[in-house]
Amino acid sequence: MNVTELARRVKITTAELLDVLPSLGFDIGRRAIKIDERTANKIINNWPQYRRQIEDMKKQAEKKDDQEEEILEKKTIKIPNSIVVRDFSNLAGLSISKVLGELMKNGIFVSMNEKIDFDTAAIIGEDLNLEVILDEKENKDGAESENKLKDILAKQKKGSLQERPPVIVVMGHVDHGKTKLLDAIRKTNVVDKEAGGITQHIGAYQVERNNKLITFIDTPGHEVFTAMRSRGAKAADVAILVVAADDGVKPQTVEAYRIIEQSELPFIVAINKIDKPGADVERVKNELSSQLKIVPEDWGGKTMCVPVSAKEGQGIEDVLDAILLLAEMDAEKIVANPDAAGVGTVIESHVDKGEGPVATILIQNGTLRSGDVMCLDNKPLGKTRIMRNYKGDIIKEATPSTPIRIAGLKSAPNIGDIIEVYSNEFNGDGQVNKKLRLNKIKKNIHQTNLVSSDGIDDDKIKKINVIIKSDVLGSAEAIEESLEKLNTKEIKVKVIKKGLGAVTENDIDRAISSNAIVAGFNVDVPNQLQLLAREKKVDIQTYNIIYELVDYVKSKMEVELGEEIVRKDLGKLKILAIFKTENNNQVIGGKVEEGKIELNAKAEVLRDESIMATGEISNLQAGKQDVKIVESGQECGAQFKGKPVIQIGDVLQLFTEEKVIKKL
Ligand code: GDP
Repeated sequence: MNVTELARRVKITTAELLDVLPSLGFDIGRRAIKIDERTANKIINNWPQYRRQIEDMKKQAEKKDDQEEEILEKKTIKIPNSIVVRDFSNLAGLSISKVLGELMKNGIFVSMNEKIDFDTAAIIGEDLNLEVILDEKENKDGAESENKLKDILAKQKKGSLQERPPVIVVMGHVDHGKTKLLDAIRKTNVVDKEAGGITQHIGAYQVERNNKLITFIDTPGHEVFTAMRSRGAKAADVAILVVAADDGVKPQTVEAYRIIEQSELPFIVAINKIDKPGADVERVKNELSSQLKIVPEDWGGKTMCVPVSAKEGQGIEDVLDAILLLAEMDAEKIVANPDAAGVGTVIESHVDKGEGPVATILIQNGTLRSGDVMCLDNKPLGKTRIMRNYKGDIIKEATPSTPIRIAGLKSAPNIGDIIEVYSNEFNGDGQVNKKLRLNKIKKNIHQTNLVSSDGIDDDKIKKINVIIKSDVLGSAEAIEESLEKLNTKEIKVKVIKKGLGAVTENDIDRAISSNAIVAGFNVDVPNQLQLLAREKKVDIQTYNIIYELVDYVKSKMEVELGEEIVRKDLGKLKILAIFKTENNNQVIGGKVEEGKIELNAKAEVLRDESIMATGEISNLQAGKQDVKIVESGQECGAQFKGKPVIQIGDVLQLFTEEKVIKKL
């Protein structure tokens, strides 16, 4: 019997029926179309009893919900002095968006990878029905690993610390020109100034100014920075806060500044796009001082504000000079011991189709040499076989502040992972030299999911990889949560990267290597990248309504799921005459009592609500004419192909079966 028919008989919807059947002990599957006759009859006959069971179950579920609410009211959580939002959500058993929403209500705009302090957590905890208690023990561990690199530097011999190039991170509101500024700096000041410039984007590069090297982290936006910070790594020495001269201070300017402030990073402001007609440098300075209390140097304050046009290459050298000046003022901190065993932080990481796991590591202390064994958390990550600099040249060694790209690792590390490099080989027994072991990365910091090792886990479940680019972190979080809700046992969405701002070449590369969809929310895809995406067959979609984005991913998931056969009931034919009965077909006459009959439709022979046989209508006539359809109320003659069991008084249930894309 059709499940729809059964549902009609017991007077509930098909969806409800399919929902309750498993709990009544009938496991016919969530998408079943038919149910065998005996089971169906059993359900119909015992329905009054089942209905009572269902009502009881509902009542119990409601009661459980109430109890859960009560438990939630009493929940107490212990946290250290500061905690990453994601960890806080996990501990509290609340969704990340709920926690972020509560933070926003309190005027705190952070991402899930950022930390909030204990006081903030306690305040929002009150509104979330949580009692937040300070965990002294955790607190101690956290502080230790946060200072991991500091500890390493502190352990270096006196006099071994030497000046190293400052590492710069660029932050600011979307579209204010972070990428353009990084490109402009790169173009005008590439070390060696070789013809054709550089082609590799490895996540960082170096330029030279007044015989001094400066390292730039080449991923604009604060995503990488935030991820690193949340894992206790401090990679940057100086920040550039980019503010567009025609747009002024915007939400992400504030967000970025908050991060700079919390990390106590020296910074300069680059007031960009001064070539634009609407540019007003003074207005921007005004906004900086009134909204952020950033007082420009020429107004008697401490902050260097450099007017630039990234587009026209104007003011770029002033930016570099300002950076060098800041670095000089902070010179005693921007040091490392080049003679020690290398230690670095992962600033970019992905799985390349050809090369396997590839990571960009910024060396922060010591020197990494080709052939060294690298470890993460005391586990070997592989030998540095091929080490390239940002220009793509193979190099033999990398000193502090040098970004390097390493291929052939055993697995892709996460952004912010601190990688230790051993100049000593394994000690023969597979153990790494114990003396060089460092403290474990603190346990209470979860791995950031900005970058994950693509497609390594659980092969059986189908997966759709998605890269989300959005204008603000809040929406990226919300999108990720909505996408996660689409997950089923058969297929899952995996957000392999989330970021702020326009779609970049990096995103496209990442999409190619992990076969991902790039989903942009309120962001642009620059024209040249649209072309590149088309050429490389990368699926980039942009939206400004979240549910449309989610719907698109859903449709892709459905395509991935494949097809299923869906039955559509057409109508019922009451058999009034049998004209001919042969081996595998019968010629019959009857009246359409419900719906319609179509030529080639499938037919079930029903007698006393039991299915006697199934076949197909191979010929259809009305008034001796061959027809394709006979409507309700009309009489017709038909040829039934199938087991010839039809008797006068039987009913033919007509239906079609269509292959359709499976729905989630
Ligand atoms: P991001 O989101 O901060 O990385 O911004 P982009 O670097 O992608 O720049 C956003 C848009 O502003 C792009 O269309 C750039 O071409 C444009 N842009 C960036 N800098 C300048 C500038 O100095 N002058 C003008 N006129 N346009 C710029």
